[in-house]
Amino acid sequence: QAKMSRPVQARRLEGIDKNIWVEFVKLAATYSKVNLGQGFPDFPAPDFLTEALTRALGGGNHMLHQYTRAFGHPPLVKVLAQFFEKLLGRDLDPMTNVMVTVGAYQALFCCFQALVDEGDEVIIIEPFFDCYEPMVKMAGGTPVFVPLRPNPPKDGKLMSSADWQLDPAELASKFSERTKAIVLNSPNNPLGKVFSRGELGQIAELCVKHDVLCISDEVYEWLVYDGKEHVRIASLQGMWDRTVIIGSAGKTFSATGWKVGWVVGPDRLLQHLRTVHQNSVYHCATIAQEAVAQGFQRELVLYGKPDSYFVQLPKELQQKRDWLVQSLDAVGMKPIVPEGTYFLVADISQFKSDVPDVPNSDEPYDYRFAKWMVKNKGLAAIPLSAFYSEAHKNNYTNFIRFCFAKEEATLKAANDILQKWKQEKSSS
Ligand code: PMP
Repeated sequence: QAKMSRPVQARRLEGIDKNIWVEFVKLAATYSKVNLGQGFPDFPAPDFLTEALTRALGGGNHMLHQYTRAFGHPPLVKVLAQFFEKLLGRDLDPMTNVMVTVGAYQALFCCFQALVDEGDEVIIIEPFFDCYEPMVKMAGGTPVFVPLRPNPPKDGKLMSSADWQLDPAELASKFSERTKAIVLNSPNNPLGKVFSRGELGQIAELCVKHDVLCISDEVYEWLVYDGKEHVRIASLQGMWDRTVIIGSAGKTFSATGWKVGWVVGPDRLLQHLRTVHQNSVYHCATIAQEAVAQGFQRELVLYGKPDSYFVQLPKELQQKRDWLVQSLDAVGMKPIVPEGTYFLVADISQFKSDVPDVPNSDEPYDYRFAKWMVKNKGLAAIPLSAFYSEAHKNNYTNFIRFCFAKEEATLKAANDILQKWKQEKSSS
């Protein structure tokens, strides 16, 4: 091994080198019979999308195999601009108000690198998609956490993700002159919470009052259930100029492996994201962008109609959510019914006797439980405390997150495992 007298690792990586996904993806690959862990569908992407990709690949335009415009393949930025004009009710310039990224992941990275400076504070609402924290830190910023607090459900009902709410005074107390941005993720991964217009209004008011930017991760924008409305914070008073909207074709079209994402926002913000993008990945695969553009063209024509994928997918997923809710409720792993996303968080308290606590262990209980479950029952899920900061992790160790974007057979197999487990528990 080469010996160097100085550290090889850049200081900005200190403390962020551990990652939940590396460990749990490996565990799921090794032990799971049913994988409801990482968030991706196990059903096929829609035919119209895969057919568009095949056409792009073998069609007459060989230039689709070459570089395209760095900030987004022209047909894709054009159709995204048309789509978001409809959603936001404002004119958009495809060249300056839209940028295509390598998944929503790179969109997030561009936002933090472009907008957050050394010493800036960034407010993150807990629980959060775990990469926000290391990305803020890599940009030199300081994450400031504010938790969604669970309120007990009314009269014996199952808890809903809507029962998890911000305390307005606590939220307000996190804003200061050091605050540069807040990260909003609605619908929220992992809880499935869909922030109401009123809740978004409170956040918007604070952003305007303190001149704070909003990084709005809306990758699950179409996955909203029970007639709930996905409200875009950028459409609220005073917010367009300070908001970057982030989206993902992976979530939108059930094709997470394509890694096509985008940002939509004012040029005054996007111009800086373009600098990061230009000097890092440059652009995302042309052919995937072409196929996603065709997918959006189809959806633009079918907008709001029953045949639209954006209407059908949530309908199917709502049914799957209900199956998983029933399976979990029947065995006493109390589900928190999500209003959106394809995730569901469940309370494991009644299963604690199977995996006893080890007092003073460094490892949160839910990590141990999820590891035990995949190894002993073959069912993979993700511990909820992975979506909390180090400081607050230990307050939320009684929950695990399941992904229900799965074939009916997968959900049935999960149900079988849970039922069998329940029977073994009651006979022991
Ligand atoms: N944001 C959230 C909230 C997510 O859950 C994910 C994917 N799990 C992403 C961003 C990243 O999306 P992509 O796969 O398009 O990079």
